[in-house]
Amino acid sequence: MELRDGRASREAAYTSCIVSTVPRFHDRVDMTPSCSLAPSRSPGNADTLPPRSTLVQQYISFVFKGLGWHEEQTPFTDDTPIGKIDFNNLIYTFDADAPRKLVLAAHFDSKWFPDFPGNTFIGATDSAAPCAMLLSLAETMTPLLRARQERVRSGQAILRDGFDEEEAAETTLQLVFFDGEEAFHDWSATDSIYGARHLASLWEQTYLSPSHPLSKRRYGPTPNTLDTIDVLVLLDLLGHRASRIISNYRETDWLHGEMGSADKRLREAGLIEVERGQEGWFPTNMKGNAHMIGDDHVPFFDRGVSVLHLIANPFPPVWHSLGDDASALSLPALKRWCRILRVFVAEYLDLAPEDMKRRDNDASSRRDGRDEL
Ligand SMILES: [Zn+2]
Repeated sequence: MELRDGRASREAAYTSCIVSTVPRFHDRVDMTPSCSLAPSRSPGNADTLPPRSTLVQQYISFVFKGLGWHEEQTPFTDDTPIGKIDFNNLIYTFDADAPRKLVLAAHFDSKWFPDFPGNTFIGATDSAAPCAMLLSLAETMTPLLRARQERVRSGQAILRDGFDEEEAAETTLQLVFFDGEEAFHDWSATDSIYGARHLASLWEQTYLSPSHPLSKRRYGPTPNTLDTIDVLVLLDLLGHRASRIISNYRETDWLHGEMGSADKRLREAGLIEVERGQEGWFPTNMKGNAHMIGDDHVPFFDRGVSVLHLIANPFPPVWHSLGDDASALSLPALKRWCRILRVFVAEYLDLAPEDMKRRDNDASSRRDGRDEL
């Protein structure tokens, strides 16, 4: 009971701190990343094979290298209805040595159409905006993750009220950018989610070393990289003003509830704008089912990974049409998503924004002192 009470009081403290602190120094999100991404998603044309979004990959890599995250790329070639195509997934991990991960993911490829004007398709909600949200999340969480890492390394990890920061630091944040989500012709088991199928299979065959904490804990089959995933949170078709999310998995229904709670608290604190008719993004009275929507999560779910699927349901009205460009995006909805994700991730990882706030205050009082001099 004491532990539960400690947890409850910590959650209350986090909510107020994250709500008041995190958005303050992360206001730079806005449209910047999605605007950066959308123009670089150059469409294909009838004479060439689909571009493999080289500029998008370079941009994503550039951002994460600047933030100092670990990068993994998994280039591969696969057969498609239009011939052999090169694909590449991008995987970024804040602490590559951490034994467990909270994974958020989106696909960076854009749907290919062979002819004009279809070949000018951009895919702003599908999925430039979700990719931009992940970039924003990385930029905004890095200071908190870094502060924790420094505390743990210097023996200053927080230990109070039943909270052990060193233990919390064993779960890190990993962001995955899938290639080849879209079908080239009609969606099928072999013509869709090329990158996700490759990565799930690769990680299933990548066994953990005997010294890995998860190896020590269990009998049975040798654990593989998939076992290090706490939950896979997949973002798709977001950024339009209408983004109702239905909980499709009983196992992660509580996380769907946590996200709804973050949304509610942000709204009550006046930190997000809720557009008319968009109050119910996280309904609790509707449940979907696991196989309702095919997407990048499927090969992971089929291998036993917990999944939270953040996909607008119904799909945005511009889905797979030329209307899915920047005009389909809503700035209030993008900001709302970015802030929900920050609160969700900070709470899931038990990050300590109150410490960040203290550091900010210390820094500003030092600045004030210097100004006086
Ligand atoms: Zn699509």
